[in-house]
Amino acid sequence: MVMNYICVECKSTFPLESHKWKCDCGGLLNLEYEKKLIDFNITSSSRNHSLWKYIDALPFNEEDVWQDVTMGEGDTPLIKLAENLYAKAEYYMPTLSFKDRGVAVLIAMAKKLGIDRVVADSSGNAGSSIAAFGARAGIQCDIFVADSTSDKKIKQIEAHGAVIHKIPGTREDVANAAIAMVEETNLFYASHIYNPLFWEGTKTYVYEIYEQMDGQLPEAFIIPVGNGTLLMGAYIALQELLENGQIDKMPKILAVQATACAPIQKAFVDGSTVVDSVENKGTLAEGIAIAAPARGAEILKAVRATDGDIITITDEETSEARKELARKGVYVEITAAVNYAAYSRYIEKYPDLKNQKVVLPLCGAGIKSN
Ligand SMILES: [Zn+2]
Repeated sequence: MVMNYICVECKSTFPLESHKWKCDCGGLLNLEYEKKLIDFNITSSSRNHSLWKYIDALPFNEEDVWQDVTMGEGDTPLIKLAENLYAKAEYYMPTLSFKDRGVAVLIAMAKKLGIDRVVADSSGNAGSSIAAFGARAGIQCDIFVADSTSDKKIKQIEAHGAVIHKIPGTREDVANAAIAMVEETNLFYASHIYNPLFWEGTKTYVYEIYEQMDGQLPEAFIIPVGNGTLLMGAYIALQELLENGQIDKMPKILAVQATACAPIQKAFVDGSTVVDSVENKGTLAEGIAIAAPARGAEILKAVRATDGDIITITDEETSEARKELARKGVYVEITAAVNYAAYSRYIEKYPDLKNQKVVLPLCGAGIKSN
């Protein structure tokens, strides 16, 4: 499979070997390659119980290096939470969060390209996932984190042998420090925000649901949005399934942000096509508190293309939703509870939704947060 980076602005293309993370014109990069149809009759009876059963839709061959990198990520259970409401239990992952989908693909590609050292920045789940898969793949990782990052997360990253760079300031300052190192060294930037290979992994979230619902999709997906890494991958898969005639109608993407940091929701309500940065006023849902999302314009476009919506959820609603889920036997990290809170709000806003199938992700395990 020939695969290149393509600039979303000027359409210049670059080979994956170029280590590009941005175009010379400043534009963000997406991927360009020939897509292959997945035969879900074959994948549904596959003995490979991981996202790698969709190898036909991934930039690898059956015999490729991914076999030395995978830790069985993907193929997570779909749990019925209430009538018509299903939850995809993404905490069934090697590092207990959905980030393993994108990281497994990104790190496997780094290994395939012969890369032995990568740089990444993260406030949490992506950092521990990259450190773990980097260790597995024999790739040295330099992980940039905020100096306020919890000891628990730093210990995990260090345990995998990654080098930690603690940066004072905001999430944006942390990203800028990582980018400075990438620019200086020309190392591979294993960014879950800039590198579109990440979405090649997160798109399997939708493939799995399609298979688990016997060749159908729910009417709506509730998806939490900070940098939009799950949303962008999901949207790629939805487009593919529609183009291939495997579904006949685009489900809605019902996105959710935290009230204290909701730049994309603000742009959506304002009818804007670009996202202006906001001040992060501080929220329990730290996993989605991104004040200046690099992919904001693309996220807005995706939500609008599905006739979707974006709402915000307060910390009080999130805490209450987390308790309610725990009382149902499901213990998730705080950020993941936002999705359950959003379901209640969305069925108030759209009463018909109660009669339609909805899927939300349980993005990370409860022990990841306090
Ligand atoms: Zn360009």
